[in-house]
Amino acid sequence: EVKMPLMVVLGGGESGAGAALLAKAKGYAVFLSDKSLLQESYRQILQQNDIPFEEGQHTEDRILEATEVVKSPGIPEKAPIIQKLRERNIPVISEIELASRYTNAHLIGITGSNGKTTTTLLVYHLLKTAGLNVGLAGNIGDSFARQVLENSFDYYVLELSSFQLDDMYQARMNVAILLNITPDHLDRYEYQFQNYVDSKFRVLQNMTPDDAFIYYQESPAISAELPVKKPVARLLPVSLVDTPQPGAYLKDGFLVVNDGDLDFKTALADLPLKGKHNAINMLAATLAAQSVGVKPEALQTGLQTFQNAAHRLEPAGDVKGVHFINDSKATNVDSVYYALESMTTPVIWIAGGQDKGNEYDQLASLVQEKVKALICLGKDNRKLVSYFSDLVPTLFETQDVNEAVAKGLELANPGDTVLLSPACASFDLFRNYLDRGDQFKEAVKRIMNIKQ
Ligand code: ADP
Repeated sequence: EVKMPLMVVLGGGESGAGAALLAKAKGYAVFLSDKSLLQESYRQILQQNDIPFEEGQHTEDRILEATEVVKSPGIPEKAPIIQKLRERNIPVISEIELASRYTNAHLIGITGSNGKTTTTLLVYHLLKTAGLNVGLAGNIGDSFARQVLENSFDYYVLELSSFQLDDMYQARMNVAILLNITPDHLDRYEYQFQNYVDSKFRVLQNMTPDDAFIYYQESPAISAELPVKKPVARLLPVSLVDTPQPGAYLKDGFLVVNDGDLDFKTALADLPLKGKHNAINMLAATLAAQSVGVKPEALQTGLQTFQNAAHRLEPAGDVKGVHFINDSKATNVDSVYYALESMTTPVIWIAGGQDKGNEYDQLASLVQEKVKALICLGKDNRKLVSYFSDLVPTLFETQDVNEAVAKGLELANPGDTVLLSPACASFDLFRNYLDRGDQFKEAVKRIMNIKQ
Protein backbone atom coordinates (compact mmCIF):
# COMPACT_ATOMS: atom_id res chain seq x y z
CA GLU A 1 0.00 0.00 0.00
CA VAL A 2 1.36 3.39 -0.98
CA LYS A 3 1.01 5.98 1.74
CA MET A 4 -0.13 9.42 0.59
CA PRO A 5 2.07 12.32 1.61
CA LEU A 6 0.57 14.14 4.60
CA MET A 7 -0.01 17.89 4.44
CA VAL A 8 -0.65 19.31 7.90
CA VAL A 9 -2.31 22.71 7.96
CA LEU A 10 -1.82 24.80 11.11
CA GLY A 11 -4.56 27.37 11.62
CA GLY A 12 -8.10 27.04 10.33
CA GLY A 13 -9.05 30.51 9.16
CA GLU A 14 -9.56 31.59 5.56
CA SER A 15 -6.04 30.77 4.50
CA GLY A 16 -5.83 27.46 6.39
CA ALA A 17 -9.20 26.22 5.16
CA GLY A 18 -8.26 27.14 1.59
CA ALA A 19 -4.90 25.39 1.87
CA ALA A 20 -6.57 22.24 3.22
CA LEU A 21 -9.05 22.14 0.33
CA LEU A 22 -6.35 22.66 -2.27
CA ALA A 23 -3.97 20.10 -0.76
CA LYS A 24 -6.74 17.53 -0.63
CA ALA A 25 -7.69 18.18 -4.26
CA LYS A 26 -4.05 17.73 -5.26
CA GLY A 27 -3.80 14.28 -3.73
CA TYR A 28 -2.43 14.86 -0.25
CA ALA A 29 -3.72 13.31 2.93
CA VAL A 30 -4.63 16.40 4.96
CA PHE A 31 -4.90 17.12 8.67
CA LEU A 32 -5.80 20.60 9.94
CA SER A 33 -5.04 21.66 13.49
CA ASP A 34 -6.01 24.91 15.19
CA LYS A 35 -5.16 25.83 18.77
CA SER A 36 -8.34 27.90 19.00
CA LEU A 37 -11.88 27.09 18.04
CA LEU A 38 -12.80 27.28 14.37
CA GLN A 39 -15.45 29.52 12.92
CA GLU A 40 -18.56 27.52 12.09
CA SER A 41 -18.29 28.23 8.36
CA TYR A 42 -14.78 26.75 8.18
CA ARG A 43 -15.76 23.77 10.35
CA GLN A 44 -18.52 23.01 7.86
CA ILE A 45 -16.22 23.30 4.85
CA LEU A 46 -13.80 20.81 6.40
CA GLN A 47 -16.58 18.38 7.33
CA GLN A 48 -18.21 18.57 3.93
CA ASN A 49 -14.91 17.79 2.27
CA ASP A 50 -13.99 14.94 4.64
CA ILE A 51 -10.89 16.70 5.86
CA PRO A 52 -9.88 15.54 9.34
CA PHE A 53 -9.22 18.36 11.81
CA GLU A 54 -8.84 19.22 15.47
CA GLU A 55 -9.51 22.47 17.32
CA GLY A 56 -8.52 23.85 20.69
CA GLN A 57 -5.25 21.89 20.63
CA HIS A 58 -2.25 20.77 18.61
CA THR A 59 -1.72 16.99 18.79
CA GLU A 60 2.02 16.82 18.33
CA ASP A 61 2.40 13.18 17.35
CA ARG A 62 0.03 13.63 14.49
CA ILE A 63 1.45 16.96 13.33
CA LEU A 64 5.03 15.72 13.39
CA GLU A 65 4.15 12.99 10.89
CA ALA A 66 3.72 15.67 8.24
CA THR A 67 5.56 15.56 4.94
CA GLU A 68 5.05 19.30 4.78
CA VAL A 69 3.24 21.90 6.87
CA VAL A 70 1.24 24.95 5.80
CA LYS A 71 1.38 27.56 8.55
CA SER A 72 -1.17 30.34 8.82
CA PRO A 73 0.41 33.80 9.00
CA GLY A 74 -0.89 34.47 12.51
CA ILE A 75 1.21 31.71 14.09
CA PRO A 76 4.57 33.06 15.30
CA GLU A 77 7.87 31.33 14.64
CA LYS A 78 8.41 30.95 18.39
CA ALA A 79 5.25 28.85 18.86
CA PRO A 80 6.37 25.52 20.41
CA ILE A 81 4.86 23.45 17.61
CA ILE A 82 6.83 25.39 14.98
CA GLN A 83 10.02 24.93 16.98
CA LYS A 84 9.41 21.16 17.04
CA LEU A 85 8.87 21.12 13.29
CA ARG A 86 12.10 23.03 12.76
CA GLU A 87 14.02 20.58 14.96
CA ARG A 88 12.84 17.76 12.73
CA ASN A 89 13.49 19.68 9.51
CA ILE A 90 9.91 19.33 8.36
CA PRO A 91 9.31 21.99 5.69
CA VAL A 92 6.93 24.79 6.73
CA ILE A 93 5.38 26.89 3.96
CA SER A 94 2.73 29.57 3.63
CA GLU A 95 -0.59 29.15 1.90
CA ILE A 96 0.61 31.51 -0.84
CA GLU A 97 3.58 29.23 -1.50
CA LEU A 98 1.32 26.19 -1.73
CA ALA A 99 -1.17 27.86 -4.06
CA SER A 100 1.54 29.27 -6.33
CA ARG A 101 2.59 25.68 -7.19
CA TYR A 102 -0.74 25.07 -8.85
CA THR A 103 -1.22 28.12 -11.05
CA ASN A 104 0.51 29.50 -14.12
CA ALA A 105 -1.20 32.86 -13.75
CA HIS A 106 0.77 36.08 -13.89
CA LEU A 107 1.37 37.09 -10.25
CA ILE A 108 1.50 40.68 -9.02
CA GLY A 109 2.60 40.75 -5.38
CA ILE A 110 2.30 43.84 -3.20
CA THR A 111 4.02 44.38 0.11
CA GLY A 112 5.22 47.16 2.40
CA SER A 113 4.51 48.29 5.94
CA ASN A 114 1.66 50.56 4.85
CA GLY A 115 -0.47 50.97 1.77
CA LYS A 116 -0.71 47.28 0.81
CA THR A 117 -4.49 47.03 0.79
CA THR A 118 -5.05 50.32 -1.00
CA THR A 119 -2.48 49.53 -3.68
CA THR A 120 -3.63 45.94 -4.11
CA LEU A 121 -7.24 47.01 -4.57
CA LEU A 122 -6.18 49.69 -7.02
CA VAL A 123 -4.05 47.36 -9.17
CA TYR A 124 -6.95 44.92 -9.20
CA HIS A 125 -9.36 47.67 -10.19
CA LEU A 126 -7.08 48.90 -13.00
CA LEU A 127 -6.74 45.40 -14.46
CA LYS A 128 -10.46 44.77 -14.14
CA THR A 129 -11.24 48.07 -15.83
CA ALA A 130 -9.02 46.93 -18.70
CA GLY A 131 -11.14 43.79 -18.99
CA LEU A 132 -8.43 41.37 -17.87
CA ASN A 133 -9.37 38.08 -16.21
CA VAL A 134 -7.97 38.90 -12.77
CA GLY A 135 -8.34 37.61 -9.21
CA LEU A 136 -7.68 39.31 -5.88
CA ALA A 137 -6.10 37.35 -3.03
CA GLY A 138 -3.49 37.19 -0.29
CA ASN A 139 -4.24 39.07 2.87
CA ILE A 140 -7.55 40.11 1.42
CA GLY A 141 -10.84 38.36 0.56
CA ASP A 142 -10.94 34.66 -0.36
CA SER A 143 -7.69 32.77 0.06
CA PHE A 144 -5.36 32.37 -2.89
CA ALA A 145 -5.43 28.58 -2.43
CA ARG A 146 -9.18 28.38 -2.67
CA GLN A 147 -9.25 30.56 -5.76
CA VAL A 148 -6.57 28.56 -7.51
CA LEU A 149 -8.78 25.55 -6.91
CA GLU A 150 -12.06 27.12 -7.98
CA ASN A 151 -11.17 29.73 -10.62
CA SER A 152 -8.89 30.07 -13.59
CA PHE A 153 -7.70 33.65 -13.61
CA ASP A 154 -4.93 34.84 -15.91
CA TYR A 155 -3.68 37.33 -13.32
CA TYR A 156 -3.68 37.46 -9.55
CA VAL A 157 -3.09 40.57 -7.52
CA LEU A 158 -1.76 39.41 -4.14
CA GLU A 159 -1.48 41.43 -0.94
CA LEU A 160 1.51 39.92 0.85
CA SER A 161 2.23 40.48 4.53
CA SER A 162 5.70 39.84 5.88
CA PHE A 163 4.34 36.78 7.70
CA GLN A 164 3.32 35.24 4.39
CA LEU A 165 6.62 36.17 2.78
CA ASP A 166 8.54 34.49 5.59
CA ASP A 167 7.28 31.09 4.49
CA MET A 168 7.61 31.54 0.75
CA TYR A 169 10.47 29.78 -1.04
CA GLN A 170 9.73 28.90 -4.67
CA ALA A 171 6.91 31.32 -5.42
CA ARG A 172 7.82 33.88 -8.04
CA MET A 173 6.16 37.22 -8.59
CA ASN A 174 6.12 38.52 -12.16
CA VAL A 175 5.57 42.00 -10.79
CA ALA A 176 6.49 42.92 -7.21
CA ILE A 177 5.64 46.21 -5.51
CA LEU A 178 7.49 47.26 -2.34
CA LEU A 179 5.90 50.46 -1.00
CA ASN A 180 7.91 51.27 2.11
CA ILE A 181 9.49 49.61 5.14
CA THR A 182 9.02 51.24 8.52
CA PRO A 183 9.03 49.62 11.96
CA ASP A 184 6.02 47.36 12.57
CA HIS A 185 5.44 43.87 14.02
CA LEU A 186 8.90 43.93 15.55
CA ASP A 187 7.72 41.55 18.26
CA ARG A 188 7.69 38.87 15.54
CA TYR A 189 11.22 39.73 14.34
CA GLU A 190 13.24 39.50 17.54
CA TYR A 191 13.01 43.31 17.74
CA GLN A 192 15.54 43.50 14.89
CA PHE A 193 14.42 45.88 12.16
CA GLN A 194 16.84 44.21 9.72
CA ASN A 195 14.98 40.90 10.09
CA TYR A 196 11.77 42.65 9.11
CA VAL A 197 13.51 44.33 6.14
CA ASP A 198 14.82 40.93 5.01
CA SER A 199 11.33 39.55 5.23
CA LYS A 200 9.90 42.27 2.99
CA PHE A 201 12.65 41.78 0.41
CA ARG A 202 11.69 38.13 0.07
CA VAL A 203 9.07 39.36 -2.37
CA LEU A 204 12.01 39.52 -4.86
CA GLN A 205 13.05 35.91 -4.59
CA ASN A 206 13.06 33.86 -7.81
CA MET A 207 12.34 36.88 -9.98
CA THR A 208 14.00 36.95 -13.43
CA PRO A 209 15.06 39.82 -15.71
CA ASP A 210 11.66 39.46 -17.43
CA ASP A 211 9.91 40.46 -14.20
CA ALA A 212 9.40 43.96 -12.85
CA PHE A 213 10.30 45.31 -9.42
CA ILE A 214 8.43 48.49 -8.50
CA TYR A 215 9.56 50.29 -5.35
CA TYR A 216 9.33 53.67 -3.66
CA GLN A 217 12.86 55.00 -3.94
CA GLU A 218 12.64 57.58 -1.14
CA SER A 219 11.95 54.92 1.47
CA PRO A 220 15.26 54.98 3.40
CA ALA A 221 15.06 51.30 4.33
CA ILE A 222 14.43 50.27 0.73
CA SER A 223 17.17 52.40 -0.82
CA ALA A 224 19.68 51.25 1.79
CA GLU A 225 18.90 47.60 1.14
CA LEU A 226 18.75 47.60 -2.67
CA PRO A 227 22.54 47.47 -3.23
CA VAL A 228 22.71 44.57 -0.79
CA LYS A 229 19.91 42.52 -2.30
CA LYS A 230 20.82 43.35 -5.95
CA PRO A 231 17.47 42.58 -7.59
CA VAL A 232 17.74 40.86 -10.98
CA ALA A 233 14.27 42.01 -12.05
CA ARG A 234 13.76 45.14 -14.15
CA LEU A 235 13.81 48.12 -11.77
CA LEU A 236 10.89 50.54 -11.91
CA PRO A 237 11.30 53.20 -9.21
CA VAL A 238 8.52 55.43 -7.94
CA SER A 239 9.61 58.88 -6.80
CA LEU A 240 8.11 62.09 -5.46
CA VAL A 241 11.34 64.06 -5.98
CA ASP A 242 13.09 62.68 -9.09
CA THR A 243 11.83 61.83 -12.57
CA PRO A 244 13.01 58.22 -13.09
CA GLN A 245 12.66 56.85 -16.64
CA PRO A 246 11.47 54.17 -16.70
CA GLY A 247 9.51 54.69 -13.53
CA ALA A 248 6.76 56.87 -12.15
CA TYR A 249 6.77 60.31 -10.57
CA LEU A 250 4.87 63.53 -9.84
CA LYS A 251 5.44 66.57 -11.99
CA ASP A 252 3.57 69.90 -11.92
CA GLY A 253 0.50 68.30 -10.37
CA PHE A 254 0.50 65.32 -12.75
CA LEU A 255 1.12 61.64 -12.17
CA VAL A 256 3.59 60.52 -14.85
CA VAL A 257 3.99 56.79 -15.39
CA ASN A 258 6.32 55.12 -17.88
CA ASP A 259 7.31 51.47 -17.77
CA GLY A 260 9.69 51.88 -20.68
CA ASP A 261 7.60 53.11 -23.58
CA LEU A 262 5.15 56.03 -23.62
CA ASP A 263 4.34 58.39 -20.75
CA PHE A 264 0.92 58.06 -19.22
CA LYS A 265 -0.03 61.39 -17.61
CA THR A 266 -3.02 62.41 -15.53
CA ALA A 267 -3.83 65.34 -13.25
CA LEU A 268 -3.58 64.41 -9.58
CA ALA A 269 -6.25 66.84 -8.40
CA ASP A 270 -8.98 65.03 -10.36
CA LEU A 271 -8.44 61.68 -8.65
CA PRO A 272 -10.37 60.38 -5.64
CA LEU A 273 -7.37 59.14 -3.59
CA LYS A 274 -5.93 62.03 -1.59
CA GLY A 275 -2.64 62.60 0.22
CA LYS A 276 1.03 62.11 -0.54
CA HIS A 277 0.97 58.48 0.51
CA ASN A 278 -1.83 57.78 -1.94
CA ALA A 279 0.14 59.50 -4.72
CA ILE A 280 2.85 56.91 -4.06
CA ASN A 281 0.26 54.12 -4.06
CA MET A 282 -1.27 55.35 -7.32
CA LEU A 283 2.11 55.72 -9.05
CA ALA A 284 3.09 52.20 -8.04
CA ALA A 285 -0.25 50.65 -8.96
CA THR A 286 -0.43 52.41 -12.33
CA LEU A 287 3.11 51.35 -13.15
CA ALA A 288 2.21 47.74 -12.33
CA ALA A 289 -0.89 47.88 -14.51
CA GLN A 290 1.01 49.51 -17.36
CA SER A 291 3.75 46.88 -17.12
CA VAL A 292 1.21 44.12 -17.82
CA GLY A 293 -0.13 46.04 -20.80
CA VAL A 294 -3.07 48.07 -19.50
CA LYS A 295 -3.71 50.94 -21.93
CA PRO A 296 -3.96 54.66 -21.05
CA GLU A 297 -7.77 54.82 -21.42
CA ALA A 298 -8.28 52.04 -18.87
CA LEU A 299 -5.65 53.53 -16.54
CA GLN A 300 -7.43 56.88 -16.68
CA THR A 301 -10.91 55.45 -16.10
CA GLY A 302 -9.68 53.08 -13.41
CA LEU A 303 -7.90 55.79 -11.42
CA GLN A 304 -10.95 58.02 -11.58
CA THR A 305 -13.50 55.40 -10.58
CA PHE A 306 -11.53 53.77 -7.75
CA GLN A 307 -13.19 53.48 -4.37
CA ASN A 308 -10.88 52.58 -1.51
CA ALA A 309 -11.77 50.15 1.28
CA ALA A 310 -13.31 51.63 4.43
CA HIS A 311 -11.28 52.82 7.46
CA ARG A 312 -8.50 54.44 5.42
CA LEU A 313 -8.91 58.22 5.62
CA GLU A 314 -12.61 57.54 5.13
CA PRO A 315 -14.96 60.53 5.42
CA ALA A 316 -17.30 59.72 8.34
CA GLY A 317 -19.63 62.71 8.09
CA ASP A 318 -19.81 66.46 8.78
CA VAL A 319 -21.42 67.91 11.90
CA LYS A 320 -21.91 71.69 12.14
CA GLY A 321 -19.22 72.19 9.49
CA VAL A 322 -16.73 69.95 11.32
CA HIS A 323 -15.33 67.08 9.21
CA PHE A 324 -14.97 63.66 10.83
CA ILE A 325 -12.48 61.25 9.26
CA ASN A 326 -12.07 57.58 10.10
CA ASP A 327 -8.50 56.35 9.65
CA SER A 328 -8.82 53.43 12.06
CA LYS A 329 -6.53 51.31 9.87
CA ALA A 330 -3.64 53.63 10.79
CA THR A 331 -2.25 51.23 13.37
CA ASN A 332 1.34 52.44 13.29
CA VAL A 333 3.18 55.76 13.50
CA ASP A 334 4.16 56.06 9.83
CA SER A 335 0.58 55.79 8.61
CA VAL A 336 -0.44 58.58 11.00
CA TYR A 337 2.38 60.70 9.62
CA TYR A 338 0.84 60.50 6.15
CA ALA A 339 -2.68 61.04 7.47
CA LEU A 340 -1.63 64.27 9.23
CA GLU A 341 0.46 65.25 6.25
CA SER A 342 -2.62 65.10 4.01
CA MET A 343 -4.74 67.33 6.31
CA THR A 344 -5.51 70.79 4.96
CA THR A 345 -7.43 72.10 8.03
CA PRO A 346 -6.66 72.35 11.75
CA VAL A 347 -6.97 68.89 13.30
CA ILE A 348 -8.46 67.46 16.47
CA TRP A 349 -6.52 64.20 16.56
CA ILE A 350 -7.94 61.08 18.22
CA ALA A 351 -5.17 58.54 18.86
CA GLY A 352 -4.27 55.70 21.17
CA GLY A 353 -4.91 52.03 21.88
CA GLN A 354 -2.40 49.26 22.36
CA ASP A 355 1.13 50.55 22.00
CA LYS A 356 3.43 48.57 19.67
CA GLY A 357 6.69 50.07 20.90
CA ASN A 358 5.87 53.37 19.20
CA GLU A 359 8.39 56.18 18.74
CA TYR A 360 6.67 59.48 18.06
CA ASP A 361 9.56 61.76 17.04
CA GLN A 362 8.57 61.50 13.38
CA LEU A 363 5.24 63.21 14.17
CA ALA A 364 6.44 66.05 16.36
CA SER A 365 6.65 68.87 13.82
CA LEU A 366 3.47 67.91 11.95
CA VAL A 367 1.57 67.72 15.22
CA GLN A 368 2.83 71.13 16.28
CA GLU A 369 1.85 72.57 12.94
CA LYS A 370 -1.61 71.03 12.51
CA VAL A 371 -3.00 69.54 15.72
CA LYS A 372 -4.86 71.86 18.07
CA ALA A 373 -6.05 69.13 20.42
CA LEU A 374 -5.22 65.50 21.10
CA ILE A 375 -7.84 63.11 22.40
CA CYS A 376 -6.27 59.94 23.76
CA LEU A 377 -8.65 57.03 23.34
CA GLY A 378 -7.24 53.97 25.07
CA LYS A 379 -6.84 51.97 28.26
CA ASP A 380 -3.33 53.20 28.83
CA ASN A 381 -2.52 56.65 27.44
CA ARG A 382 0.71 57.22 29.37
CA LYS A 383 3.07 57.24 26.40
CA LEU A 384 0.97 59.56 24.25
CA VAL A 385 0.37 61.94 27.11
CA SER A 386 4.00 62.16 28.13
CA TYR A 387 5.20 62.62 24.55
CA PHE A 388 2.63 65.15 23.36
CA SER A 389 1.62 67.15 26.42
CA ASP A 390 4.12 69.90 25.57
CA LEU A 391 3.37 69.84 21.84
CA VAL A 392 -0.43 70.25 21.76
CA PRO A 393 -2.39 73.06 23.45
CA THR A 394 -5.21 70.78 24.62
CA LEU A 395 -5.11 67.16 25.70
CA PHE A 396 -8.00 64.97 26.81
CA GLU A 397 -8.16 61.32 27.88
CA THR A 398 -11.04 58.88 27.55
CA GLN A 399 -11.87 55.20 27.16
CA ASP A 400 -15.17 55.85 25.44
CA VAL A 401 -15.46 56.41 21.70
CA ASN A 402 -18.72 58.38 22.08
CA GLU A 403 -17.06 60.73 24.50
CA ALA A 404 -14.06 61.10 22.18
CA VAL A 405 -16.33 62.13 19.31
CA ALA A 406 -18.36 64.53 21.47
CA LYS A 407 -15.19 66.08 22.83
CA GLY A 408 -13.81 66.37 19.30
CA LEU A 409 -16.85 68.31 18.19
CA GLU A 410 -16.69 70.54 21.26
CA LEU A 411 -13.03 71.43 20.62
CA ALA A 412 -13.45 72.01 16.88
CA ASN A 413 -14.40 75.15 14.95
CA PRO A 414 -16.41 74.91 11.73
CA GLY A 415 -13.99 73.85 8.98
CA ASP A 416 -11.75 71.85 11.33
CA THR A 417 -11.25 68.10 11.04
CA VAL A 418 -11.67 65.50 13.78
CA LEU A 419 -9.34 62.70 12.69
CA LEU A 420 -9.32 59.20 14.19
CA SER A 421 -5.83 57.97 13.28
CA PRO A 422 -4.74 55.87 16.25
CA ALA A 423 -1.07 54.85 15.63
CA CYS A 424 -1.85 51.88 17.84
CA ALA A 425 -3.55 48.49 17.75
CA SER A 426 -7.21 48.42 18.75
CA PHE A 427 -7.40 45.38 20.99
CA ASP A 428 -7.61 47.25 24.31
CA LEU A 429 -11.11 48.64 23.73
CA PHE A 430 -12.27 47.05 20.46
CA ARG A 431 -12.39 43.69 18.69
CA ASN A 432 -10.17 44.95 15.87
CA TYR A 433 -9.55 48.02 13.72
CA LEU A 434 -12.79 47.43 11.79
CA ASP A 435 -14.82 47.44 15.00
CA ARG A 436 -13.00 50.59 16.15
CA GLY A 437 -13.73 52.38 12.87
CA ASP A 438 -17.36 51.23 12.82
CA GLN A 439 -17.95 52.39 16.39
CA PHE A 440 -16.37 55.73 15.55
CA LYS A 441 -18.63 56.15 12.52
CA GLU A 442 -21.70 55.19 14.59
CA ALA A 443 -20.74 57.72 17.24
CA VAL A 444 -20.49 60.40 14.55
CA LYS A 445 -23.92 59.40 13.14
CA ARG A 446 -25.45 59.57 16.60
CA ILE A 447 -24.10 63.03 17.30
CA MET A 448 -25.17 64.13 13.82
CA ASN A 449 -28.76 63.18 14.62
CA ILE A 450 -28.68 65.08 17.89
CA LYS A 451 -27.04 68.22 16.56
CA GLN A 452 -28.70 68.65 13.20
P1 ADP B 1 -1.91 48.06 4.78
O1 ADP B 1 -2.76 47.06 4.06
O2 ADP B 1 -0.46 47.93 4.42
O3 ADP B 1 -2.15 48.14 6.23
P2 ADP B 1 -3.68 50.21 3.91
O4 ADP B 1 -3.83 50.54 2.48
O5 ADP B 1 -4.74 49.44 4.56
O6 ADP B 1 -2.28 49.50 4.14
O7 ADP B 1 -3.46 51.57 4.72
C1 ADP B 1 -3.18 51.51 6.11
C2 ADP B 1 -2.90 52.86 6.66
O8 ADP B 1 -1.67 53.38 6.14
C3 ADP B 1 -3.96 53.90 6.34
O9 ADP B 1 -4.21 54.61 7.52
C4 ADP B 1 -3.35 54.80 5.28
O10 ADP B 1 -3.75 56.13 5.43
C5 ADP B 1 -1.84 54.64 5.49
N1 ADP B 1 -1.12 54.52 4.22
C6 ADP B 1 -1.61 54.10 3.03
N2 ADP B 1 -0.67 54.08 2.08
C7 ADP B 1 0.49 54.49 2.67
C8 ADP B 1 1.83 54.69 2.20
N3 ADP B 1 2.19 54.46 0.93
N4 ADP B 1 2.74 55.13 3.11
C9 ADP B 1 2.39 55.36 4.39
N5 ADP B 1 1.15 55.21 4.88
C10 ADP B 1 0.19 54.78 4.04
